[in-house]
Amino acid sequence: MNEYSQMMADYYEKYDAKNLLVDRAFGRYQLSTPAEQKLIDRVYQFEDFFSDMRFNPGSKTQEFISVQSKMNDTDEWQDDFVDLPEELEYVGPGNFIFRVADLDDGVLGRFETSKYTLTVAPGYETNDSVILHEMIHMYQAVLDSLPSFYHDAVLWCLYKFLQNRVADLDKRIMAHGHILNESSLSRIGGCHDILFLLKSFELDLRMEYPLGTVFGYGMAEDEIAD
Ligand SMILES: [Zn+2]
Repeated sequence: MNEYSQMMADYYEKYDAKNLLVDRAFGRYQLSTPAEQKLIDRVYQFEDFFSDMRFNPGSKTQEFISVQSKMNDTDEWQDDFVDLPEELEYVGPGNFIFRVADLDDGVLGRFETSKYTLTVAPGYETNDSVILHEMIHMYQAVLDSLPSFYHDAVLWCLYKFLQNRVADLDKRIMAHGHILNESSLSRIGGCHDILFLLKSFELDLRMEYPLGTVFGYGMAEDEIAD
């Protein structure tokens, strides 16, 4: 263990705990257990799957940030993008802490917004569907720290993308989004809103999983039983 990195890690935890954009990766990788290092490597591998939630050019949400602008001293219009809030522009896995640790009640993964920490249960550090599920929570926490129109733009783009790719999409949204269902789910596992549902479907398609796999809570099994 490197004393300097331990000192820096303690410093970040203590003094900058409230700032999303603090570099939490510095010195931490070496301090992490081999299982946690596997988890971190996996998160970096999946990073590009979340470019739409960060409004990166070239992603599904590009249309919502596209503008025309004029270069200095010329009259020519050119394609450009609006300036994004720092949180979207600069956020990445390095701003979060990744742990492998026992969780209560047999829970497989958890993202804690106030601690910027993504935890999976031992043995799940290479379980892609669990990691992807928690990564949606991670990037949604960033979106939800901004005005709600960022959330809405991602929701709309995901909906448009999935419209012709998922059978009965509207029916699925209605069943999931019904306040009775959302409330009971929220009591046991926290908020999984319609944006979460749509992003989980999009990741299922990318990974060629049965629909509902990334969402969890038995959704994929219900799908097969139906
Ligand atoms: Zn969840």
